[in-house]
Amino acid sequence: MRQKTIVAIDGPAGAGKSTVAKALAKRIGADYIDTGAMYRAVALKLVRTGTDYNDPEALQAMLDGMDVDFSDGHTLLDGEDVSHLIRTPEISAVASPSSGIPAVRYKLTALQQAMGARKSIVMDGRDIGTVVFPDADFKFFLTASPEERARRRTEEMRAKGEKADFEQIKADIIQRDYQDSHRDFRPLRKADDAVEIDSTDMDIDGVVDTMMAFIDARDR
Ligand code: C5P
Repeated sequence: MRQKTIVAIDGPAGAGKSTVAKALAKRIGADYIDTGAMYRAVALKLVRTGTDYNDPEALQAMLDGMDVDFSDGHTLLDGEDVSHLIRTPEISAVASPSSGIPAVRYKLTALQQAMGARKSIVMDGRDIGTVVFPDADFKFFLTASPEERARRRTEEMRAKGEKADFEQIKADIIQRDYQDSHRDFRPLRKADDAVEIDSTDMDIDGVVDTMMAFIDARDR
């Protein structure tokens, strides 16, 4: 392994990015950074403070006083552990449109770049290989069919004892894909030099092994 390595993993909602990124980070001895959690933390603060993200001055005032960080896999918003609070459908619904606002992306991109300046990281999101770390050592674009992504999400929720309607989940995934890839500012896009991995017929280990093969081949 090189001294400091940056691995970027982008892709649509529910492709398994966070599970894969976490496992890969463990294998190469890097920190895992979940940028989706950062956009969710912004959404939580918007809801809590009643800030309108379409009001530029109010939004900037909120962002100026805000910090998002990670500690032992927990997401910290202004020092408070909000890991569970950001995983609600309400927050998902605010995170997707508010993440399209340039001021939000500038703020979080700067925080993400600072995290990568300090140590080796595996970072997952929608714009890591294209915007946050265009010179990342390794870039992957992880996809899976909408049906498979909805099936995984449904299973995950049912395993936690939550009610899950497959058709509704599939519709939400397709809607979020559309929003994320059609926004005007920094949409979800595969970097030209990213390796695309379709995980529809693969399990987690298969995806991580595929990524490791690329990393080992180049680091040898
Ligand atoms: O990855 P996750 O589903 O938790 O992300 C929540 C939302 O944050 C996404 O729907 C997307 O709109 C936004 N996001 C983003 N850029 C990233 C990570 C997430 O726009 N790098």
